[in-house]
Amino acid sequence: MRLLLVEDDPVLGDGLATGLSQAGFTVDWMQDGAQGEAALAAEDFDCMVLDLGLPRLDGLTLLRRARSTGNQVPVLILTARDATADKIAGLDGGADDYLVKPVDLDELAARIRALTRRAHGRATPVLEHGALRLDPAAHRLTRNGEEIPLSSREFAILHHLLANAGRVVTRAQLEQALYGWQTEVDSNAVEVHIHHLRKKLGSEVIRTLRGVGYLVSK
Ligand code: CA
Repeated sequence: MRLLLVEDDPVLGDGLATGLSQAGFTVDWMQDGAQGEAALAAEDFDCMVLDLGLPRLDGLTLLRRARSTGNQVPVLILTARDATADKIAGLDGGADDYLVKPVDLDELAARIRALTRRAHGRATPVLEHGALRLDPAAHRLTRNGEEIPLSSREFAILHHLLANAGRVVTRAQLEQALYGWQTEVDSNAVEVHIHHLRKKLGSEVIRTLRGVGYLVSK
């Protein structure tokens, strides 16, 4: 799951980026509002975590502009303690949730999962496909109740495919979901992970559409 974090405080931003990465998210961290807006316009994110007080372009303006152009990304704003006016302005400006600083990382991760779940139209957190059950919060995949151990990248790929079941997902989309922008991606990295997934799950779960991408049927 790919997140856009827009936070100018270097210590807080670094802590959030690191913590959310460890929680299994792919994080792109932008340190001012203009960078954040450019990133949002250029890429698809599953969720944006947005500070309000930002250099170059404040968070509220960024949010209002994004909504005015039809961008539907789920947005969680980070606000200063007791700044009720900020919370109201943020929610009215198109945010879906807010969290007061200092941020509890576990709570932030849980709220992001809840927001992205709702955005995909699911009330329940667990994704099911035949006998497979993928639980994003527990980072756990089971088949008929038996756990199938996956690496974090394999888990991320399967999560993305199951969340988009019935739709073709391109290799580029999977690379972005896995790595964000910051890392150079080995050109066959996705194929290697898919190969390992097929060994663990059987070859019938993930279909390859040659030259197009990958598909898990609904
Ligand atoms: Ca700030």
